[in-house]
Amino acid sequence: MKRPFITLQQAQGLAEKFPTPVHLYDEKGIREKARALNQAFSWNKGFKEYFAVKATPTPAILKIFQEEGCGVDCSSYVELLMSQKLGFAGHEIMFSSNNTPTEEYRLAAELGGIINLDAYEDLAFVKAALDGQLPQVMSCRYNPGGVFAMGTDIMDHPEESKFGMTKDQLIQAFKEMKDLGVQEFGIHSFLASNTVTNDYYPALAKQLFELAVEVVAETGVHLTFINLSGGVGVDYRPEQTPNDILAIGEGVRKVYEEILVPAGLGEVRLCTELGRFMTGPHGHILTEVIHRKDTYRTYVGVDACAVNLMRPAFYGAYHHITNLSNPEGNIETVDVVGSLCENNDKFAVNRELPEARIGDLLVIHDTGAHGFAMGYQYNAKLRSAEVLLQEDGSARLIRRAETPEDYLATVYGFDFEA
Ligand SMILES: *Cc1c(COP(=O)(O)O)cnc(C)c1O
Repeated sequence: MKRPFITLQQAQGLAEKFPTPVHLYDEKGIREKARALNQAFSWNKGFKEYFAVKATPTPAILKIFQEEGCGVDCSSYVELLMSQKLGFAGHEIMFSSNNTPTEEYRLAAELGGIINLDAYEDLAFVKAALDGQLPQVMSCRYNPGGVFAMGTDIMDHPEESKFGMTKDQLIQAFKEMKDLGVQEFGIHSFLASNTVTNDYYPALAKQLFELAVEVVAETGVHLTFINLSGGVGVDYRPEQTPNDILAIGEGVRKVYEEILVPAGLGEVRLCTELGRFMTGPHGHILTEVIHRKDTYRTYVGVDACAVNLMRPAFYGAYHHITNLSNPEGNIETVDVVGSLCENNDKFAVNRELPEARIGDLLVIHDTGAHGFAMGYQYNAKLRSAEVLLQEDGSARLIRRAETPEDYLATVYGFDFEA
């Protein structure tokens, strides 16, 4: 059972003030999530979550994480700029990018961010980009190849992933980085995405901790942190059990004490770069039913479309839908569709939902991550607003909706008068 974080009455009030479709975020939920994560890893001195900005690149949301003691994980120039503007200090900025342009490395270094190298080959590139002056703290991203399995379940295929470097490359990179003056080292890896199990982080940690022991023995570097990255996921489907971050933290602690402590690495601090897990469940799209249509199927047309949330069209991803206006309506099987001239513009296919009448307000769940962030402007659709439901119950506009002027602002040779 998935419950919206707003009532019908709240939704009606919001829809009057902020035209639908609109992205809503629950401040209380986001803060509680950050606190639970920090609590789960409080046993590790120096633990830090670097929120993956790409999940929800909205300054007001980043500010909440900052207030909760989190840093940011950036992967592009503008994400770095935004983090700088928000006042994140260098050591609070992780720069985990790949296929990275020169100017992005330069900005990351200028801000004092921690550069996480994706490829062995990037070492020569970053050295040239920074005129031979490497930062004092750096890390490398590991890719073990093969498949990543937990028990008999294959979770992902690192061998097919473009990210990270082999063990031999990582060892070679560490040796060269040490010679180039790097003083503190980290190891990073991201082996499975959107996991809904409490065993992923502990299984990843085991691999990384064993690697760490080997790499330190081989290179003699001062390893100060291990970055478990993202990958703890969201229970998008109502039948899934949400991840229990306290159990996950405890699972990682056991492996830490089993492997790192006896090897004399009990000072290593852990980091995470969670994105989806932190904000996904704490966002809704509020949308109104504007049409119904019956042909070979029954279609419910809403005023949101795939530009507001690409995941269903892109990955066939499931997002739960609640009809706030008619929760007890007769169940019917419908496709819930947007207005794009694309047949994959469907938020739900053959979904059983209470009858959705024209004018009903629907909530699309778990849109806090990769919702607005993956938005685009196909069919000359405009991006919708983002609204933060604050802890005191008030609603704050944190990004206005786009206007036709915004859409045309970059066009030359066309005079547009609204
Ligand atoms: C996307 C990404 C993350 C966040 O992943 P989630 O699945 O949202 O937790 C963290 N680190 C890197 C390098 C990423 O690309």
